Amino acid sequence: MIWIPIFIFILGLAIGSFLNVCIYRIPRTGLSVHSPRRSFCTECSQPIKFYDNIPLLSYLFLRGKCRYCQAKIPISYPVVEFITAVLFLAMYYHFGKTLYLLHALIFVSILIPIFVIDLQHHIIPNSLIIIGSILGLVIICVISYQRSDIKYLLTRFAGFMIGGGVLWLVAIIAKEILYRFKLMDRFLRKQKRADKQKSELQNSFEVGSRKPFRKPFIEAMGFGDIKMMALNGLFLGLWPELVMVIGLSSILGAVIGLIVKKSMNSRIPYGPFIAVAAVVVLLWGDVLWAQYLQLAGWN
Ligand SMILES: [Zn+2]
Repeated sequence: MIWIPIFIFILGLAIGSFLNVCIYRIPRTGLSVHSPRRSFCTECSQPIKFYDNIPLLSYLFLRGKCRYCQAKIPISYPVVEFITAVLFLAMYYHFGKTLYLLHALIFVSILIPIFVIDLQHHIIPNSLIIIGSILGLVIICVISYQRSDIKYLLTRFAGFMIGGGVLWLVAIIAKEILYRFKLMDRFLRKQKRADKQKSELQNSFEVGSRKPFRKPFIEAMGFGDIKMMALNGLFLGLWPELVMVIGLSSILGAVIGLIVKKSMNSRIPYGPFIAVAAVVVLLWGDVLWAQYLQLAGWN
């Protein structure tokens, strides 16, 4: 049946188009995924007609420009749509018509916006992690129930807890050690904080009421990579999958980091490497693990 792969590909394009909306709106305060309902040109704010909003094709017809203001449509839009469709198709050929396919499609649909948003804004939004965790938990419970295999559920739940918890602990301890060795830094930081509080207090007395305290956007997103590992643990399981994701993403990050650092001086986000490693492990984890064991001489 040729119709099923075609359907999966078109579904991928449609989901990719929706992911573009998420990628644009989630990191920007004041915009939510469901309002405004219609897509709009990010340059001239003109609502986009449905026939100009067809994945891939509209980009080609409009030659990558807005119909109204001729502003360039970012190439990332058709690229995200195409990559989503290709990954959907790859998952279909790998998992067939099973619940695992649904599981893989959900995972991929969370990984893609995380990849792009972390690349562009250096943040991993909490909302994506939370939605991913809820959807992941549901599909994993369903699969576990269908297989009547409680171990499946437990290894994934362990992956979620350990992926998040252990790495979080490591980060806390590493931070603590850093502080210990840089006592001066710590002291200065404390003093700065105290000074800031003092001036804030003074301000509040002068104005008469305390200004509403708003958490900075970036701060609320901290520990993104750890939350991402928890998500990976949930979708992939703890051993060896999560360990493979950690290993692969570190290698990828080190290699790409070396190449990119030479050409430009900027911080490279780690989230995209985790996302790529996750897709690799999702598709070829078992093969890679067998190869690795053979190389290590354990098999
Ligand atoms: Zn426009």
